[in-house]
Amino acid sequence: MADGAVVDVVLPDGSRRSVPAGTAVGTVLSEWAPDRASQFLAASIEGAAVDLAAPIRAGRLAPLTFEDKAGRDVLQHSSAHLVAKALVETIPEARPTVGPPTDEGFYYDFDVRPLTPGDLDAVRASMDRSIRAREPFRRRELPKADAEKLFATNPYKLRYISEVPPGEPVSVYDTGDFTDLCRGPHVPDTSWLQGVHVLGFSAITPDAADAKPLQRVRGVGFPTRGELDAYLKMRAEAARRDHRTIGQQQELFFFAEQVPGFPFWLPHGMVVVRELEKFVTEHLRAAGYSEIRTPLLFAKSVFETSGHWEMYRENMFTSEIDGQEFGWKPMNCPGAMLIFGSRARSYRELPLRLAEFAPLHRLEASGTLHGLLRVRELVQDDAHVFVTEEQIESEIRVLLAWIRDAFTTFRLAWSYELSTRPPKFLGEVADWDRAEAILERLLKESGVAYRVSPGEGAFYGPKIDIHIRDSMNRPWQTGTIQLDYQIPRRFGLEYQGADGQLHQPVVVHRTILGTWERFLGVLIEHCAGRWPPWLAPVQVRVLPVADRHAEAARGLADELRAGQVRVEVTGSEESLPKRVRTAEVDRIPYVAVVGDREAADGSVSVRVRGVKEGRTYSRPEFLAYVTERIRKREFDP
Ligand SMILES: [Zn+2]
Ligand SMILES: [Zn+2]
Repeated sequence: MADGAVVDVVLPDGSRRSVPAGTAVGTVLSEWAPDRASQFLAASIEGAAVDLAAPIRAGRLAPLTFEDKAGRDVLQHSSAHLVAKALVETIPEARPTVGPPTDEGFYYDFDVRPLTPGDLDAVRASMDRSIRAREPFRRRELPKADAEKLFATNPYKLRYISEVPPGEPVSVYDTGDFTDLCRGPHVPDTSWLQGVHVLGFSAITPDAADAKPLQRVRGVGFPTRGELDAYLKMRAEAARRDHRTIGQQQELFFFAEQVPGFPFWLPHGMVVVRELEKFVTEHLRAAGYSEIRTPLLFAKSVFETSGHWEMYRENMFTSEIDGQEFGWKPMNCPGAMLIFGSRARSYRELPLRLAEFAPLHRLEASGTLHGLLRVRELVQDDAHVFVTEEQIESEIRVLLAWIRDAFTTFRLAWSYELSTRPPKFLGEVADWDRAEAILERLLKESGVAYRVSPGEGAFYGPKIDIHIRDSMNRPWQTGTIQLDYQIPRRFGLEYQGADGQLHQPVVVHRTILGTWERFLGVLIEHCAGRWPPWLAPVQVRVLPVADRHAEAARGLADELRAGQVRVEVTGSEESLPKRVRTAEVDRIPYVAVVGDREAADGSVSVRVRGVKEGRTYSRPEFLAYVTERIRKREFDP
């Protein structure tokens, strides 16, 4: 480039600058936004990620920070380099293979002897030294032959080098005395990696048939130590609340090796499932739904009509019956469509609201199964509502009100996502526009936060997804409300309108809590196993102080049971303080103690979960108090 040449760049705010050729990208950016420069991890020029130390090129220039996916990846991947440097320093014969960023953080796989916790300590110590030494990430570009020489003892890197197109240089990054093959970019130096933490290691076997087992080191990186500490704290709290652990402690459910992904509901878990069902069913009755039950499996032809055979077949379990192929339903839609189409329908029947809580089967990959959060057999609070165009608005309004009731009851925060017409769609633009306008107006009216995802709707209709946040502010997707203009057409569904003509109904597929399994998994973690009294498998535990109070304790338990309260009595084999402590560990909402005084005057001393002071009630008062809290579905006891 000629002396005095300038390069024209456009910054994210639209401003333009001409800078001398050879200026570092980072210099241009920090002059543009000096107060934010410390957050810039790398940059992008015309969408391609580059190091801050790279010479400027013409085009649109933007910083990459931890807020961007690409910036986050730069930090994670730079951390992976640091891990590789430290591991090779600890075990010189280790051969690094790949170290990509992941959704959570990063990993690096090594061809090395099995690691030990001691190795990990040494790795962490080496990383700390490197971070203190502020070692720069230096980029070099080499001819292929030189790169091959540099990585002559590492067959993994040689394979990657062989994949670089002929004539193109190979880029490597030096960090201190460690060199890794890499396209980059990276953070400027290791001092940017103070918020990096190595989480652990495990043996893995890569997919390739001839592959040998590798050791994977996993970690996570944040821009600052403070953010890392907050994350680690949150992670420990999440582990404490893990629904799989609490499910075992409280004997809610279990999974058997012989049927992976199929939950077994234990008596305590079943209590919660039934209470949840009752809660939903009360709404369905009030909102004019009817309940149906349709077969669990259908001949292939039904799924061909519904479109599942084409779109969803890899996720379906199939069976052969009488030489014919059947599929286990992954969704309830086909059964509801067949019921609607089973006889002539009139507009007077609409909206026709058909709810179904049938077990559904989905062939999820075994590697993705995760406790109750991803299973192969599940039940949804599912319903299909058949409506005319004019009825869409009132139906959706009722649904949004129900969502408010439901999630308020569970003290979950929720928001909506409206997905609109995709490039490929079915039906008339005018119908889509009208339906989308109705949905958006109702969302606005609801006062709940929502965002619009343009073009993300299904090809058969727009949809509203419900996103919830639990008490740890973790996001979960639960229910969805989906308008469908296509499935009635595929099943040839019609009703006779007031005009005497035949019309096609619109189908609203809606599930609000999602699946019992997933929702309960989330709920367990949300409340850390401290069930609201109405859901608690055991609502009251009665503790007789001594053997001589056993009869009075049983009498109290019988009264509570007669009042529909779930109660158990724990005998006096163990000391009272010990049993009180156990009830706390078991997160029992109400503990009722019966001793001499209580047995004599028919009272009961009560400890309410989470409340320090005990209280004394007469037996009828206590029953009234507990049943009122349960009836109102209060979140706290
Ligand atoms: Zn790299
Ligand atoms: Zn459906």
